[in-house]
Amino acid sequence: MRVLTAFGLALAVCVAAPLSAHAKHRAAPPEAPKIHQVEKVAENVYCIFGQGGNIGLIVTAKHAVLIDDQFERLVPGLVEAVRSVTDKPIKYLVNTHGHPDHVGGNVVLEKQVSAIIAHANVRKRMVTEQAKLDPAKRGGLPELALGSEDPTERARLNIHLDGAEIHLLHLGPGHTDGDVIVGIPSGLAMHMGDLFFLGMLPYIDVESGGNFDGLVAQVASVASWIPDGARIIPGHGPVCGKKELLRYRDFLQAVQAHVKAHPGKDAAAVAATFDPAAWPEWKPRADFVTWETLFSVASGKGPGRVIRP
Ligand SMILES: [Zn+2]
Repeated sequence: MRVLTAFGLALAVCVAAPLSAHAKHRAAPPEAPKIHQVEKVAENVYCIFGQGGNIGLIVTAKHAVLIDDQFERLVPGLVEAVRSVTDKPIKYLVNTHGHPDHVGGNVVLEKQVSAIIAHANVRKRMVTEQAKLDPAKRGGLPELALGSEDPTERARLNIHLDGAEIHLLHLGPGHTDGDVIVGIPSGLAMHMGDLFFLGMLPYIDVESGGNFDGLVAQVASVASWIPDGARIIPGHGPVCGKKELLRYRDFLQAVQAHVKAHPGKDAAAVAATFDPAAWPEWKPRADFVTWETLFSVASGKGPGRVIRP
């Protein structure tokens, strides 16, 4: 997701409790708000909630690997959350895609990790964005880029770390043109980045190369091979499993089929004849993704979100 949303704020309010007694007795510096909450997902795999996209944490024998990092200002609190789980050094930082609520902490964390890893298009878009910034504010670019600029080209990178494997997969354009799914086979766990929204309607960022049909195809693909019992960290929403992913696939395919059944109609008219009550897990947001913007992007039009003048 591109912006700090009310969903993120609500989540932040829900998770405002201090992480430990130690933290409770220390004056919190303003740059380190205690908003993070850690949930164990699987053996050696954790999800850290805060503001913005969900963060994954993998702990190996000697290292930690972080998946996404939310916002720059939240990094001190994020590191404290990581330290509540492990004191091992963070070796790699993986970016699931390039939106600021997933990569905003890169600029700080690059000094603490061996390498930041992302799809080639994430690096490319970050370079373009950073060219507009004061040079002192630039930084945090991925050093290791997988895939090519052609987002339809599938790409894979296997990380072998202390005997553990971490699989990075790019399956095509979806939420953006640089999405990466992170699989942790030993933990039967996966971080799907913003290819998976749970609790709110999915955002397809057309301006960043996203594609609705591509998203549907990717979700259907993962749903076809993900093992029973797997645990999934979505980009936004609670940690879940295969059951929720299958529902998400069915939901996306229902939206796709509804668009095809109403050719030539505008998105508002198509949305008006869809039954949202059948899909209570996905709620619209008047200031972000509405049913109309979803049906618009599913029809191959519009940016995928509300744009206010
Ligand atoms: Zn995103």
